[in-house]
Amino acid sequence: MALIVHKYGGTSMGSTERICNVAKRVAKWARAGHQMVVVPSAMSGETNRLLGLARELAPAKPTDAYGRELDMLAATGEQASSALLAIALQAEGMPSVSYAGWQVPIRTDSAYTKARIESIDDTRVRADLDAGKVVIVTGFQGIDDEGHITTLGRGGSDTSAVAVATALKAHECLIFTDVDGVYTTDPRVVPEARRLKTVSFEEMLEMASLGSKVLQIRSVEFAGKYKVPLRVLSSFTPWDIDIDQEARSGTLITFEEDEQMEQAIVSGIAFSREEAKISVLGVPDRPGIAYQILGAVADANIEVDVIIQNISKDGKTDFSFTVNRADYARTVDLLKDKVLPALGAQEVKGDPKTCKVSIVGIGMRSHVGIASQMFRCLAEEGINIQMISTSEIKTSVVIDEKYMELAVRALHKTFGLDQSGNGKNAQS
Ligand code: ASP
Ligand code: MG
Repeated sequence: MALIVHKYGGTSMGSTERICNVAKRVAKWARAGHQMVVVPSAMSGETNRLLGLARELAPAKPTDAYGRELDMLAATGEQASSALLAIALQAEGMPSVSYAGWQVPIRTDSAYTKARIESIDDTRVRADLDAGKVVIVTGFQGIDDEGHITTLGRGGSDTSAVAVATALKAHECLIFTDVDGVYTTDPRVVPEARRLKTVSFEEMLEMASLGSKVLQIRSVEFAGKYKVPLRVLSSFTPWDIDIDQEARSGTLITFEEDEQMEQAIVSGIAFSREEAKISVLGVPDRPGIAYQILGAVADANIEVDVIIQNISKDGKTDFSFTVNRADYARTVDLLKDKVLPALGAQEVKGDPKTCKVSIVGIGMRSHVGIASQMFRCLAEEGINIQMISTSEIKTSVVIDEKYMELAVRALHKTFGLDQSGNGKNAQS
C-alpha cells in the first residue's frame, strides 16, 4: 500500500462522463489498497470562461488591478470540479471528501494570479485518508495570511499536486493529462516526435521552462527540490486498464542519470512563441547598469529570460533581453518612463515577434560541438540567430517567430530525434 497523488487536467475533467471515468480510475487505485489524494483542474475551458466574463466587465484596465477578485472568481472552477469528482466517487461507492485550498489549508503568499505555495497543513487530509476516504484537494488555489483566496498562475494545478505530494511524502505523483507523456518535441509541430520513457528532472525543467506545455514549470521546480517522483501519463486509456501496466506507462521524470540517458546527447527540442525582445540602446557602460535595468523590471514582477550585453564602444553599450510577450508593453513603458531618464540611455527598442528554440539534453555536459551543430543546421535553413544563450544542458536561440516551426523540425531531424532516428529511449 502506498500513498499516491493523482492530478487530472481540465480535459480529463471536461464533462460529467469524463469525471465519471476519473472516479472509476481513482476507485480502481484505491481498491488496489492505495491511499489516494486527487488534485483536479477546473473542467476544460472553465477558467478561460470565468476570466473572459471579468474581461467583459473591465476590458480596458490591466487585469492586475482586479487581482484579488480574479482569484476569487477563477478558484471557483476547481471548487466545482473537485466537488463533482467527490460526488462521482461516492456514487461509485467510494467514500470521498473534497476540500478547497483554504480548507486544507494550502498557504500561499499574496501575489494574486501568480501566488506561490508556502506551506500545506496535512492534518486534515491524513485523518481522512486514515479513515479510508479518497481525498480531493482543489488544484490551482490557496489562501494567503489575511484569508484571501489566491491562485497559482495558469496551469497551476500541476504545482498544487506536486506540493500536496511533497507535504504528504507521497510515493509518486501521477499527472494524468491529454497527452501520453513527454515527447522529444511537440508532435503538432513535428509529427515524427517520439515519447520519452524517462526524462531527467533537469531536462524536464528546461523543457517546461522553454515552453513544452506538458507541466507547469513551478511544479517541476517543486518536484526537483523535494525529489517527488513524477510521472506524466494519459487519462484517455480505458479506466480499467491493468493497474501495474498503468503505473509504468507515460514518462517518468527521474533524478538519477541512468545508463540509458548516457546515450543521447540531445533529448528534446523545446520552443516558446512567448518570447519578446527588448533592447536598451546607448547605455553608459559603468558598474550597476544591469542592476538598474533588470532590477526595475524584476521589481515590477516581470520575469526576464535571455540577457545580452554588447561590448562597449565610446563608453556606451547596448543591453538586450527577452520577456514574456504578455509583459512586453508593460516592460517597454516601464523602461521609457522610469529607467531611461535615470540612466541617460538613448533609446528603447523592441520586437514582440520573436521566439526561442532550444536543444536540451544532459548529455551535452560531456560533449563538445553540439551548439555548433545547431548553428550549422539553422544556417543551412537560412535562419538568422538574434540571441544565443547556453547552460550546461541546453543551447537556446532567439529567432524571428516566422521561422520557429522550420527551426524545430530541422533540429529534431539533425539530432536524430525523428522516429526513424536512433536517439535514446525510443518507443517502438
Ligand atoms: N484551471 C487552471 C487553468 O486553467 C489551473 C489548471 O488547470 O492547472 O490555468
Ligand atoms: Mg495543465
